[in-house]
Amino acid sequence: MADVDTDTLQRWLRVFAASVAEHKDELTALDAAIGDADHGANMDRGMQAVVDGLAATPADPAALFKQTGMTLVKSVGGASGPLYGTLFLRMAPATGGAASLDPETFAKALRAGLEGVVARGKAEVGEKTMVDALTPALDALDAALGSGQSLADALRAASAAADEGRDGTTPIVARKGRASYLGERSAGHQDPGATSAALLVAAAATAVAEQGAA
Ligand code: ADP
Ligand code: MG
Repeated sequence: MADVDTDTLQRWLRVFAASVAEHKDELTALDAAIGDADHGANMDRGMQAVVDGLAATPADPAALFKQTGMTLVKSVGGASGPLYGTLFLRMAPATGGAASLDPETFAKALRAGLEGVVARGKAEVGEKTMVDALTPALDALDAALGSGQSLADALRAASAAADEGRDGTTPIVARKGRASYLGERSAGHQDPGATSAALLVAAAATAVAEQGAA
């Protein structure tokens, strides 16, 4: 399996943007139940802006991540904009300036991104946020790579873990973000940010599998 190059990373962003567009109404409906019904529109606006900027992106993963992060901070808004923005901004330096990323470096960059989200949002696992999808996903990714799996297989495992983490947010009482204002009434609803975060991981699995198939 070749390293993850900028083409594949761009495909990741395009697949995520298409997936967010496809699930826009679902994300909005989830946010309507425990927030302010803007998560679908926020993410769709932000990812369309990211895709629009891809043509002008320098061919280097760090530059791509930095541009993506800055675009998300500027265009998504809400709580999720700065958090998704931070995720990508923190991935940039973790690439070490490499032109393409070996699986461990890609995983390390994602981990740095998640640490940025946690540092910024102060959410721990179990507080009904995107962290509940991202944390098990990256744990599964590390474990699969550590046991010698290909990056494509490891990302498939990560995506399954993200989906499980997303589903696990439903019974939780929110402790962070707008949903926490509802207290106990936030229980019984799937978290919108965990839902979009699971789409982000699924998109990485799709993009890398396509590179392997090419
Ligand atoms: P807003 O809540 O400002 O309207 P969005 O609707 O776009 O922003 O995003 C809501 C999502 O953001 C939540 O479902 C949750 O997953 C995530 N979120 C909110 N606060 C935090 C936080 N402190 N840490 C991590 N994720 C958070
Ligand atoms: Mg909202």
